[in-house]
Amino acid sequence: YRSKARGRGVYTIFSPEMSESHKRKILIANSIEAAIEENQFSLYYQPKINLNGEIDSLEALIRWHHPELGPVMPSEFILVAEQAGKITAITQWVLNQASKELAELMSIYSPKIRLAINLSVHDLRHSELFDWIYNAFQAHSVNPENVEFEVTESAYLDNFETSESLFKRLHNLGCTIALDDFGTGYSSLSYLTQITIDTLKIDRQFVMELDTSERSRLVTISIIDLARRLSLKICAEGVETISQWEYLKALGCDTVQGYLFSKPRPLADIKNQPDYQRQAG
Ligand code: C2E
Ligand code: MG
Ligand code: MG
Ligand code: MG
Repeated sequence: YRSKARGRGVYTIFSPEMSESHKRKILIANSIEAAIEENQFSLYYQPKINLNGEIDSLEALIRWHHPELGPVMPSEFILVAEQAGKITAITQWVLNQASKELAELMSIYSPKIRLAINLSVHDLRHSELFDWIYNAFQAHSVNPENVEFEVTESAYLDNFETSESLFKRLHNLGCTIALDDFGTGYSSLSYLTQITIDTLKIDRQFVMELDTSERSRLVTISIIDLARRLSLKICAEGVETISQWEYLKALGCDTVQGYLFSKPRPLADIKNQPDYQRQAG
């Protein structure tokens, strides 16, 4: 049987023995161009909270409402897009949309509000990435000082030289760089001596276990200590309980992010209710 990728007249042949999850992947991969053309993607924003409890910055997180599948999360479709060689189209859409919406965030919060944009490992292999970023900034009059890029350790190390030269250029432009999901990637720390970054984002895994695991607490202490010694800022992701927050605050973690403060929300919601509403946790 066949499935028509919406509005594009592209047919994919599904063989009956193909698993449901494989069919879903193909459908997702084949729907990406249409999703961009038909505005099915949107950006949600999740605040990062500083030690004073104020909103320090926001992270843009992509959302997709697929016409047949309903909501599809980035944890699923980013990987599929990467495997299908279609991530750069998504990245360009994100860069443009985030650049466009930044003006509104500035008017809601402050002209100094900072916006974090995630980059994929595959993006870093494109020598044109800097130009896409630069062009998106130009098109929407973005001050690069308002923008941070989040990239995972593995993305950085996948091609160290290329990543390093890109991040130096972005730095010179005024952007900052955060190393996302820190602690889950490579075991070697030697690259930290050479890399152009501003912030370490402690992975949710460690934060999740703060209340229950002495070892996670010790690793977290060590990561924060390491960051401080390297003059890097530190952000903890996935904070869900008050006790996790208190612990991170006591360690001097610069910013925290998580459902305790706010889930990622669409711009319209943020406009109606700019402040975060801390959950009971
Ligand atoms: P990430 O950049 O590490 O983003 C953090 C993820 O954790 C987000 O999931 C966020 O919604 C979720 N999160 C935040 N606070 C909490 C919490 O307290 N508890 C729990 N359980 N989860 C929390 P999301 O939005 O589903 O994104 C997943 C991943 O997909 C991101 O991980 C990032 O790697 C990727 N991604 C998202 N948006 C983009 C994008 O625009 N471009 C690229 N290349 N990747 C993106
Ligand atoms: Mg991120
Ligand atoms: Mg992260
Ligand atoms: Mg993560």
